[in-house]
Amino acid sequence: MITAERLFLKPRTAAEAVAMACEHADDFRYLAGGTDVLVNSFQGTDGTSCLIDLTGIAALKEVTTKGDHLRIGPMVRLSALEEHAVIRESFPSLIEAAHAVASPIIRRSATLGGNLLCENRCSFYNQSEWWRDAVGNCLKCDGDVCIATGGRKACFSKLASDTAPVLIAMEAQLEVVTAEGTRIIPLESIYTGDGVDPRNLPPTALIQAILLPLGREFRVAFRKLRPREAVDFSSLTTALAIDAAGKVRIVLGAVDPEPVIVDGLSADAPADLIKKAVKHARIIDNDPYPRLYRKEMITVFLERSFEELEKH
Ligand SMILES: Cc1cc2nc3c(=O)[nH]c(=O)nc-3n(C[C@H](O)[C@H](O)[C@H](O)COP(=O)(O)OP(=O)(O)OC[C@H]3O[C@@H](n4cnc5c(N)ncnc54)[C@H](O)[C@@H]3O)c2cc1C
Repeated sequence: MITAERLFLKPRTAAEAVAMACEHADDFRYLAGGTDVLVNSFQGTDGTSCLIDLTGIAALKEVTTKGDHLRIGPMVRLSALEEHAVIRESFPSLIEAAHAVASPIIRRSATLGGNLLCENRCSFYNQSEWWRDAVGNCLKCDGDVCIATGGRKACFSKLASDTAPVLIAMEAQLEVVTAEGTRIIPLESIYTGDGVDPRNLPPTALIQAILLPLGREFRVAFRKLRPREAVDFSSLTTALAIDAAGKVRIVLGAVDPEPVIVDGLSADAPADLIKKAVKHARIIDNDPYPRLYRKEMITVFLERSFEELEKH
């Protein structure tokens, strides 16, 4: 529950935010658009007592060009990405992926940084506390057995972010600030593959920018499977990127706790790359659609994506 007693802090710089986080380490959340954090509080899966609101840090809302990279601030709202000419011209698939997130109203609050760190989901975890209580609780948050598999060892909650697959397909990097300083890391390195603890970042780490390489001339095909177009988490997200040098990257979301990545070259047979992607996805029945249907749809989506990019 959100209570009036929850501590609310509003830093003005990234360094100040990280310092505040270190003071409250283990019992805080950064708050961006709040469309994930606050829902988790209401659903009883996040009981942290301190919120560090990032909306007062102007530098985190900028979109700039730095050397051969586009630098996007993590606090840019998903609905505002299309306002930037360089994103429209060089990375239109990012706008397409952002438009596939949630609903128009949610996208006006939701940020790109928050989307990358949105908590993993599954049909059983993404429920109210009383619902989970009624079916025996969930391994990821309040139980010791996975409702989906009946197992005690592994959680396969799905990577929920719809922008992560497209960004990883275009080899995006993150500028991350911690108490030790600033470092640049590949976006895919922040995902662990463990559904219970899906992030490979120190809790106090702050994403300061998302970096995209300019001049690679990516052709990208994005697809998302969901029961309702209007608002629904993904049952399968696919991104296929081919750059001007013929480098191919397939990334799948929502069929594994982490993004599934397959690298290849344009000379490779698409069918072989698709087979690898299907093989690596650890799909279980934790979604409104059956496991086998989602598995088959990986091939369908990727075949269509290769055809789409051939035409360009
Ligand atoms: C009804 C509904 C439908 C949804 N559908 C989708 C969907 O289809 N696809 C999808 O991808 N998401 C969906 N979401 C989830 C969510 O709305 C989005 O992922 C959104 O982009 C999260 O961004 P935010 O700014 O609101 O994040 P917040 O809720 O503010 O934060 C999310 C997480 O990121 C951390 N964080 C935020 N910014 C930073 C930063 N700069 N550095 C370090 N940590 C940070 C927070 O501490 C928190 O852990 C849905 C949510 C709802 C309520």
